Amino acid sequence: PPPPPPRRHVAVCAFPFGTHAAPLLHLVKHLATASPDTRFSFLNTATSNSALFTKSDPSSNIIPCNLNEEEGGSRNGNPFVRFIETAGVSFRRRMEVAEEEAGGVKISCVISDAFLWFCGEIVDEEKEKGNNLCSWIAVWTSNVASISAAFHTDVLRTKYGVVKQGIEGREDEVIDCVPGFSNIRVKDILDCVPGMLSETINSAFDQMTYKMALSLPKADGVVVNSFEKLSPTITNDLKSKMKLLCIGPFPSIFPPQIVTDKYECLPWLDKQKEKSVVYISFGTVATPPPHEFLALVEALEGGEFPFLWSMNDSNKGLLPLGFVDRVREDEAFGKIVEWAPQMKVLGHPSVGGFVTHCGWNSILESMVNGVPLICRPMLGDQKVNQRFIESVFGVGVGLEGGVFTKSGAIKALHRVLSSDQGKEMRRNVQVLRGLAEESTKQGGSSIENLNALIKLVQSA
Ligand code: UDP
Repeated sequence: PPPPPPRRHVAVCAFPFGTHAAPLLHLVKHLATASPDTRFSFLNTATSNSALFTKSDPSSNIIPCNLNEEEGGSRNGNPFVRFIETAGVSFRRRMEVAEEEAGGVKISCVISDAFLWFCGEIVDEEKEKGNNLCSWIAVWTSNVASISAAFHTDVLRTKYGVVKQGIEGREDEVIDCVPGFSNIRVKDILDCVPGMLSETINSAFDQMTYKMALSLPKADGVVVNSFEKLSPTITNDLKSKMKLLCIGPFPSIFPPQIVTDKYECLPWLDKQKEKSVVYISFGTVATPPPHEFLALVEALEGGEFPFLWSMNDSNKGLLPLGFVDRVREDEAFGKIVEWAPQMKVLGHPSVGGFVTHCGWNSILESMVNGVPLICRPMLGDQKVNQRFIESVFGVGVGLEGGVFTKSGAIKALHRVLSSDQGKEMRRNVQVLRGLAEESTKQGGSSIENLNALIKLVQSA
């Protein structure tokens, strides 16, 4: 017999770029287990869905639903811009189809990546039609600082002017108009939210984040991948402005179920000395420019710091041949892989430091494993994340001049791996690790917030 229709229908709307969709799916898997009678239609691009859902599990109540992006309009252009320009239409249409696929069960709750602000509008429209219980839950996969910066866009624009008129000369000013930003300078937040302090908020992406900031207060829940005690001032301020639910760190609450170590990173780490290895990864989007890549290679060539480098195949061509040969021949020197089980790698006792682009998922994974960081931020919220790592949390260092040079990289590696300052960073990161553990155990704030979210979904 056909399965009974679901009791409830939740639409999940993913943002398919960077590491946004994977953590959203981790959260949804937990919600789906807690509500087995609910169908979760996971709306996402076909490319991103096929990377996320490697095996289809027929018993699962999470159903991947591929968007027809072309329905939303233009066929041309860069996939990122095209996705943003067409998202409002393509998600709306796909929701209608998902309702048909669910045997006509109406969507009663929309869980979306916070960027997809129009989901708030969709829920408003439902409410206008008398569907009062319909709710919108926005999920911000980064930290409270970047969502606060976005929320305060107008306050910041008024205070510091926009780039052309007023920012010059004020880059080093400390931000005094946003609670919890007293150690953060204007230059740290410039890239944090696209177009935030640019002359006009014009591009499709700038518009999207601006509208998101304006929409968040009306969401029935704003989930952030963080824990309340990490940035209490910012958290309390945001709690007074929106229904904030800090449910993190995700890597502790939703640890990876299956760990694949195709390139045998863990056995290699087993052979290294305790806290001697530097793990290097710049995430899934950003790469430092070629000359910086070479400067980092030169810093490692001395052989002082055994390294495990997770590197996209397309970047391997940037490496000097001698370096590649040495990695192949000398096991103690280092290892280069296309992909590492990062969470497990950072939890391995041989890892002493993490060279990172400061993506929020990477930072949390380092924090919950007690590993200090060396920062080379490139885009988006990565710069403001670095500032928090260095000057607020005290768990890592930046590079001299903000970029890799041979001598600057060696200095940073020494500071983290073999200096007293490095020991202090390790102590600080252990304190944060403890606070994170407190919030993710039974009765902790993140677990309480997660339970509140489950109730919210079930009450729709
Ligand atoms: N990651 C991984 N193995 C790798 C490289 C990256 O598992 O070899 C994962 C990492 O654990 C993290 C994510 O990819 O969860 C990167 O997310 P982050 O927010 O740090 O950066 P983004 O990819 O969004 O730039």
